[in-house]
Amino acid sequence: MDIAELLELDRQHVWHPYTSVTSPLPVYPVVSAKGTRLRLADGRELIDGMSSWWCAIHGYNHPALNAAMAAQLEKMSHVMFGGITHEPAALLCRELVRLAPPGLDKVFVCDSGSVAVEVAIKMAVQYWHAMGRPRKKRFLAVRSGYHGDTLGAMSVCDPGTGMHTLFSGILPEQLFAPAPKAGFDAPFEEADTAPLAALMREHRDTLAALILEPVVQGAGGMRFYSPAWLSRARELARENGLLFIADEIATGFGRTGKMFACGHADVRPDILCLGKALTGGTMTLAAALATREVAEGICQGAPGVFMHGPTFMGNPLACAAALASIRLLEESPWEKRIHTMETRMREGLTPCAKLPWVADVRVLGGIGVVETRSPVNVAEIQRKFVERGVWVRPFGKLVYIMPPYIIEADDLDHLCAAMRGVVEELEQ
Ligand SMILES: *Cc1c(COP(=O)(O)O)cnc(C)c1O
Repeated sequence: MDIAELLELDRQHVWHPYTSVTSPLPVYPVVSAKGTRLRLADGRELIDGMSSWWCAIHGYNHPALNAAMAAQLEKMSHVMFGGITHEPAALLCRELVRLAPPGLDKVFVCDSGSVAVEVAIKMAVQYWHAMGRPRKKRFLAVRSGYHGDTLGAMSVCDPGTGMHTLFSGILPEQLFAPAPKAGFDAPFEEADTAPLAALMREHRDTLAALILEPVVQGAGGMRFYSPAWLSRARELARENGLLFIADEIATGFGRTGKMFACGHADVRPDILCLGKALTGGTMTLAAALATREVAEGICQGAPGVFMHGPTFMGNPLACAAALASIRLLEESPWEKRIHTMETRMREGLTPCAKLPWVADVRVLGGIGVVETRSPVNVAEIQRKFVERGVWVRPFGKLVYIMPPYIIEADDLDHLCAAMRGVVEELEQ
């Protein structure tokens, strides 16, 4: 199919995320991807700065991931999970329990990040019901958070960017504390968690859980905050009889410099959501891990089982990919790679901070963010990035990169230079 034909078909029938169907943002046809390169239909190659939204941590088309999936494909790509088990799921659950913060013993493997959040929310509600506390079914979240696009997950996203007014009446109404003060290194004072503590105290009889993204708030603003705040929030949840749900769908598997962002503060959640990089960017898969207490508690109450069971639960092909991805990660010097990436991005992006139209530059682990003072023109800025041979997809005021961990120094420097070049041109 020639490029024009493909683009015409796309324009006729295809819905892309967060763009209009009547005047859509441009799309770039990609024909293949390898390592850190995306190859466009016109032959150009782009250095990937996005890891396909946090996922492709080992780069694309990795032979080890391909081999694991090909081997599994020969056996079975899928089989139902009701009444059946298989090696890829059993091995994966063991690995997730081993890697996760201590105490998270039971794994629910589901289809996508948003579903893992729905599962976590339902687990918390069922847990309190089983404990004889059926009024505890609301959730406490923090502003600027993002937890996914299904209704339950949306209800705990930032009410502004999540357009809650548009969905009022259908979205459950949750409680929101102010976002944690910005800055991974920001000094923590007890007063910083006071509003959170006050909400917990006032509503503890109806709150099931506190849900948040540890240390890095992703799609709700690409904000970093202090591990000490996280640690105090976790303690407060315990003191006030709330479960604590950590959404590590974006931060999991090394991105922030620790295997899980909870590791910056040695925090142990009651429920942990994983997704995105879980399969190294090859297949959709997510998981919600629960403590034995939560899992067994749920099953003590009526109806004696957890009320969720998606068709593609525990998909063997995706589990095989996830197992291979975890092995690759653990065999790689990922901590050193993330540290190097952090240092180079800090060097490469900090010069943007002196531009008057740039509000902030921040880097943590494998995440580099340039925040502008007003929203960028996505179509135009994207075209400029492509002209410079890189793939970067900004949203709103956020021009950011989170490259695959395997990126070479030269490519990362090229990516940072493109960021500087494009951001410098913004005001012209
Ligand atoms: C992406 C994301 C989700 C949703 O995951 P999907 O796989 O897109 O449904 C939930 N929480 C966080 C923190 C995310 O970054």
